[in-house]
Amino acid sequence: MRQPSKAEQILDLFLLRTTPPEYAEEQPYYTTGSIVAAALIRVALIGTAATILNVSYGSTTWWWTAVLFAFWGLGVYPAWVQYQRFNDAVEQLHIDTLCGQCRHFNPTNQLCMILDVHVTTEAPPCEGEGWEPKG
Ligand code: SF4
Repeated sequence: MRQPSKAEQILDLFLLRTTPPEYAEEQPYYTTGSIVAAALIRVALIGTAATILNVSYGSTTWWWTAVLFAFWGLGVYPAWVQYQRFNDAVEQLHIDTLCGQCRHFNPTNQLCMILDVHVTTEAPPCEGEGWEPKG
């Protein structure tokens, strides 16, 4: 499997792609933190661009209305869609895997808290030896 550069990973997270890139087949691609970070970066960039362009366009009502729509449509909404997909993936892990029923599974980042590895839909990384039922 090809290892992506840091710049490629940051760009992929920023783009909030609906399908994971090829290098992310063996691991969960999005986490709650990465989705929130992508949304914040997008909103910050839109806000910065709007502030800079405001000098040219003036503080008209239509301008700031368009900026609000841009915040929602380009910043928050794609992250919300991605978060829904993330929740679906976590739900699938809960249903389909042994790890999903284990007390050491952290659904926020899809991580085994004992081994510190990402859980996939494959066999549990501990091969079942660390499994404990949820309390
Ligand atoms: S201890 Fe084993 S079964 Fe439990 S989450 Fe970790 S890898 Fe999965």
